[in-house]
Amino acid sequence: MVFFAKTFGCCRFVWNKMLDKKLQAYQKKERIPGVTPAEYKKDFPFLKEVDCFALVAVQNHIKNAFRNHFKNRKQFKLPKFKKKKDKQSYTTYNVHNSIIVDFEKGLLYLPKLREGVRIELHRKFDGKIKSVTISKTADGKYYASILVETENRRNKVVEPKSRACGIDLGLDHFVTVTNDFGSYKVEHPKYLRRGEERLKRLQKSFSKKQKGSKNSEKARLRLARQHAYITNARNDFLHKLSKAIIDENQVVVVEDINVKGLLKTRLAKSISDSGWSKFLSYLKYKAEWYERTFIQVDRFFPSSKLCHRCGYKNEDLALHNRTWCCPACGETHDRDVNASKNLYFVGLGRPEVTPVEQALVDDRSPNGLPKKPSCAEAGSSAFYG
Ligand SMILES: [Zn+2]
Repeated sequence: MVFFAKTFGCCRFVWNKMLDKKLQAYQKKERIPGVTPAEYKKDFPFLKEVDCFALVAVQNHIKNAFRNHFKNRKQFKLPKFKKKKDKQSYTTYNVHNSIIVDFEKGLLYLPKLREGVRIELHRKFDGKIKSVTISKTADGKYYASILVETENRRNKVVEPKSRACGIDLGLDHFVTVTNDFGSYKVEHPKYLRRGEERLKRLQKSFSKKQKGSKNSEKARLRLARQHAYITNARNDFLHKLSKAIIDENQVVVVEDINVKGLLKTRLAKSISDSGWSKFLSYLKYKAEWYERTFIQVDRFFPSSKLCHRCGYKNEDLALHNRTWCCPACGETHDRDVNASKNLYFVGLGRPEVTPVEQALVDDRSPNGLPKKPSCAEAGSSAFYG
């Protein structure tokens, strides 16, 4: 812990020194000078105590930060000075086997830590270690993220059971999904709801404590731990659900909800908590990894307002209408199930919904008896035929 604290500190110190030098040139509109850690070691000998590759990594990171900024100023802002209370981390490179993982003993060997660090390994890997990033979170835990180069980069692709699925993002439920086998709803996991209630209590308790006191520090740590728990639990849920959906379906269709626009409305709380945008980004990259098709429909596509059976458009449908009856064909709809069915039909290659006047036969209902899909296992769910 002492070694890590020192290395975090030295990396932050060198980063701020280098940034200061570069920013001064930037403000004077001069050429941004190249900098190396070596030039600081004379004046600040304590830098010699820590891993020198970590300092080289800082040099590379800051160089990239400026390069990105000049390439795309909108997306990449100028780098900022680092503070002690920011998330602490450092990256070190594998040079002549300076980094080794002993899978048997569960030890990670790092430069200047030749006795090894005990780690909890999440999985085995093959390949050449390129670098390791050590980080310390606000709740006082240490993580090592290991970058490995391997020959075989392709992911195992499983055969999809369903041709397509439509996903409606809900408020009461996390999502409603329709695929070849029917429709089902995935609830917000109960542990997340409970976790958020506890978070609120801890926030209150922390704000009441006198700043700088021992009790305040204890409350801060409890709060940080709960934050970390919720972040990890939610990510776990989103990864498992998105993976299950991608495994099961060849084509995945979602609404293009304007998440940012919605966040401004009174729905803000439940949406920001539900992690929709994260979920969509997971679906998107997993679709790419596993050779699936990911479709985001136009945000003006009225997935909720269209009757999935006959194509009638219900212009009067309000947000609080959870069910509605189609005046054209008489079908009663669960709002979310209906929306997900419309998205499913888009996935089947039916982007145009036939208006009611032209609808001839109801050939839209999926064939066969619905079976409980495996996606549902990722979250608690209710099943609809
Ligand atoms: Zn209808």
